[in-house]
Amino acid sequence: MTNSRYDAVIIGAGVIGTAVTHELSRRGWRTLTVDKGPAAGFGSTSASSAVIRFSYSTTTGVAAAWEGMHYWADWEHHIGAPDESGYAKFIRCGMAMLIAEELGHHNRVRPIWDELGIPYEYWDREALAERMPLFDLGRFGPPARPDQDNFWEPSRGEMVGALFSPDAGYVDDPQLAAHNLQRGAEANGAEFRFRSEVVKIITESGRCTGVELADGSRIDAKVVVNVAGPHSSNINRLAGVYDSMNIKTEAIRHETYHVPGPPDADFTEIGFNVADDDNGIYFRPQPGNNILVGTTDPPCDPREVVDPDGDLGELTNEGWETNTLRINKRMPSLGVPLPHEKRGVVDRYDRSDDWIPIYDRTDLDGFYVAIGTSGNQFKNAGVAGFMMAELIEAVENGHDHDADPLVLTGPHTGLPLEMVTFRRNREIDRRSSMSVHG
Ligand SMILES: Cc1cc2nc3c(=O)[nH]c(=O)nc-3n(C[C@H](O)[C@H](O)[C@H](O)COP(=O)(O)OP(=O)(O)OC[C@H]3O[C@@H](n4cnc5c(N)ncnc54)[C@H](O)[C@@H]3O)c2cc1C
Repeated sequence: MTNSRYDAVIIGAGVIGTAVTHELSRRGWRTLTVDKGPAAGFGSTSASSAVIRFSYSTTTGVAAAWEGMHYWADWEHHIGAPDESGYAKFIRCGMAMLIAEELGHHNRVRPIWDELGIPYEYWDREALAERMPLFDLGRFGPPARPDQDNFWEPSRGEMVGALFSPDAGYVDDPQLAAHNLQRGAEANGAEFRFRSEVVKIITESGRCTGVELADGSRIDAKVVVNVAGPHSSNINRLAGVYDSMNIKTEAIRHETYHVPGPPDADFTEIGFNVADDDNGIYFRPQPGNNILVGTTDPPCDPREVVDPDGDLGELTNEGWETNTLRINKRMPSLGVPLPHEKRGVVDRYDRSDDWIPIYDRTDLDGFYVAIGTSGNQFKNAGVAGFMMAELIEAVENGHDHDADPLVLTGPHTGLPLEMVTFRRNREIDRRSSMSVHG
């Protein structure tokens, strides 16, 4: 059974796949996006903490995140079409990166912010205490777990201060954001097919020419884009490109937690995003005086590689206890919620070897990847769509991106986006934090 021919088939309707679709369709590409789930954003996007921040370890990582924020700041205009479900909202609450000592992630980030002109304020300890009187500013790190003795030791000294980004924040509904992108793309003529699983990548004469679905139908296309999130390595294996890529991706299990805010203040009103490397956590306000707590993947925490289709189970009591105790050190007025009260989400990161995404072509002509988003690329959906569309158009027009990697210019900020940072055959980028910080 052969279907009509498309310019592009996009595999995956998460926030990155719908963003790629949106960008290609508005450039006049005839696209079909297929997803085995029931609707857009039902994969790992649905579990995203959707934190918008600019604290990456590489210059292009920071530039992309800063560029990416501008899409959220003007979201309805970017979507360019009505959505009957409303629009995702960007809550610009700011973010404080706590500074425990001279060594830390802030040391990589601050020079890049200075170089690129990313706005931030330096808060010394007194300013931090004034801005957030609910915090205990003791030093508890390096991060540990409750079964380690040092977890229970009293604080060792005081925090130095914080770097505060006033333009950071979070998006209130990540799944809706993907739906918005779908509606925007459909207004440009894009088609979507759900409950449709890609089971084969079709190649002819060394070029990718389409996909086959589980129902046996075949879809022909000029290019195919793998945006399958935690299933990305499976799709790369189907295409026969897995072994030829230097950087690999794998699905890892990840939990985030929702804890009640402080009894004496509304954290949604007074709070902001916090990166607390000293405790191995990040947290942000969640509507209704709740707090969303995630981990920054400190070395003491487990990293569990999982089957992208396997059962993830429920939140673990151990993860809940560890991370509610961690945030309770920083905000003692919270109290530690009991295990039977545990709330949160469990899902998968599509983690690359160095926690930096791969936005690239592959060794199979016509087959592209936007993968390895490593728990940190929701914020970059808009700019990832832009970068992929630029890359695909350049390569299809004969540009040798492997020999001469593209340097793009962010349309909102004018900053250079060096695509060499995201190539599939880079050596592991040692500048990376090797964690969700990217
Ligand atoms: C718990 C958690 C917290 C996060 N927090 C943040 C954050 O605070 N800030 C941030 O910037 N990023 C964050 N991220 C990362 C961000 O959410 C992801 O990078 C992003 O959502 C990935 O989108 P995607 O479209 O690549 O993948 P997905 O949303 O997973 O979409 C992939 C889609 O591909 C489909 N698919 C897979 N295989 C097939 C197939 N064979 N055929 C058809 N369809 C297929 C799936 O059904 C799925 O819908 C977080 C991620 C998680 C899991």
